[in-house]
Amino acid sequence: MTQPSHPTFIQIETTLACNAECPFCSHATLTRRPRRMEDWLWKKIIDETRGLGVTYRPFLINEPLADHRLGEIMRYIRRDDTARIELNSNGELMPASTSSASRSTGSAKRRSRSRAWDSTTR
Ligand code: SF4
Repeated sequence: MTQPSHPTFIQIETTLACNAECPFCSHATLTRRPRRMEDWLWKKIIDETRGLGVTYRPFLINEPLADHRLGEIMRYIRRDDTARIELNSNGELMPASTSSASRSTGSAKRRSRSRAWDSTTR
């Protein structure tokens, strides 16, 4: 079996913040730290994978729109013409975050979890 020379997808959990409490999710039980990835680290990950045609997903078990740096992170990724960005969001913070984030996404793929969390689960 041939090993790939680099990852095709990279998920970067820049924060542990989330505005939801989805009953099926392990987010509420996370104990790992730090809660916020330092800027130098997410920049290092992106810098070391530039030009490789990577699809970056700046989230893991968190809400990407809860990180106020999301626009900056996406602009940093988009300095690489071969890079793609995918976001998976619960969408609840979209109105407040859309303006700064979407301006910098270029062709970023946007998708939202389909209302996995609503006011009845708060
Ligand atoms: S929005 Fe995502 S990270 Fe947050 S609780 Fe729901 S599934 Fe987990």
